[in-house]
Amino acid sequence: MRGEAGGEKPGERAGEKRGKKPGDDRPLQQSGPSTRAVHAGGAAPAPDAPLVTPITESATFYNEPVPTKEVLYTRYGTNPNQRVVAEKIAALEGAEAALVVGSGMAACSLALLAFVGSGDHVVAARALYGGTVRLLQRELPRLGVAVTLVGDRESWRRAIQAKTRAILVEVPSNPLLRVVDIRALAKIARERGIPLLVDATFATPINLRPLEHGADLVIHSGTKYLGGHSDVTAGAVAGPAVVIDEIREKLKSFGPNLDPHAAWLLERGLKTLALRVERQNENALAIARWLEGHPAIETVHYPGLESHPDHRVASELLDGYGGMLSVVVKGGDEAALRVLDRFRLVRVAPSLGGVETLVSMPRFTSHASATPEERRALGIQDGFLRFSFGIEDAEDLRADLEQALGPEGV
Ligand SMILES: *Cc1c(COP(=O)(O)O)cnc(C)c1O
Repeated sequence: MRGEAGGEKPGERAGEKRGKKPGDDRPLQQSGPSTRAVHAGGAAPAPDAPLVTPITESATFYNEPVPTKEVLYTRYGTNPNQRVVAEKIAALEGAEAALVVGSGMAACSLALLAFVGSGDHVVAARALYGGTVRLLQRELPRLGVAVTLVGDRESWRRAIQAKTRAILVEVPSNPLLRVVDIRALAKIARERGIPLLVDATFATPINLRPLEHGADLVIHSGTKYLGGHSDVTAGAVAGPAVVIDEIREKLKSFGPNLDPHAAWLLERGLKTLALRVERQNENALAIARWLEGHPAIETVHYPGLESHPDHRVASELLDGYGGMLSVVVKGGDEAALRVLDRFRLVRVAPSLGGVETLVSMPRFTSHASATPEERRALGIQDGFLRFSFGIEDAEDLRADLEQALGPEGV
């Protein structure tokens, strides 16, 4: 890729084509996250140019007979829609480069495959998205990659081996919203020369920019907050250009590219990311405080509450505690199912990060393939519900929760 690109960075050529002058991006680099979300990666103003990136549904692009510049091809992630949205994500993460792919799982898989091969070893947190656990436990071993999962009381240092080529964590984690101290983990990783990969889907770059704390690569499911409207499946990685180039090689070989129309939807969603996430942070914090005193609730898991085991680390690392919140309903799974049945506004659906508030029971969704013992070991007790708070009015959400939980509990 580097060879094909003639040494230039992905964004440079696109910028040149859109008539950007050198230095045009400088004010943007110093701007705040809301401004970046709106303007980064967009076309520079030019007479009669469309304000919004047009959808370029073209699989390929004209070449010179002997190509001297990077070859544009939609499977390579170099379609204009893919590039514009990747530039926006890179700007939001403070990364040198980014790449968008067809799903969050494609982002996780390609990122890992860029670092590990047969004979290598991966260390990952035990608390991960279910799909990522399947990738680590079912697929990587078939390729000759060994995996060690680390629980929250186990030692990262002890899990690392001579063959360890990647460390993977999620911040905050699913569904207990644990916040591992990535500064400490980055220090260990750096000492051993191992890249630290952080899936920051739950945080978004508005609440956390892992690269600022020493991580080497950020992974996102764009399906969640980045897209933000539950209407697009997408994934992204952001980090140093050499790493992104390597992941692009995997994208070229394995082929899970993002469709240009989906890239366009992702770009549109990203423009309102800061506004949405700020409201979701506010809603979840307000509801967390209210739920903590509710008679029907046994436990509230929310990093913004002082009762959360990682509250201090979360306060240091995060700009907002996020829209994700989990509870344990008194009365176990039966009671939790009754609550689900009574919701009027809150929608029962897996997934997260959209404008609408969703609730799910991890035992039937993200952790359906775990055994009851595994679920309990992960802290997913009977009666566990996971909420993704949307952008509705907090009072309406509270009222719906109140009627669903019942005044005296369930
Ligand atoms: C949803 C999710 C994924 C997978 O993303 P898809 O876009 O559904 O493939 C990966 N990691 C986390 C933390 C997620 O929430």
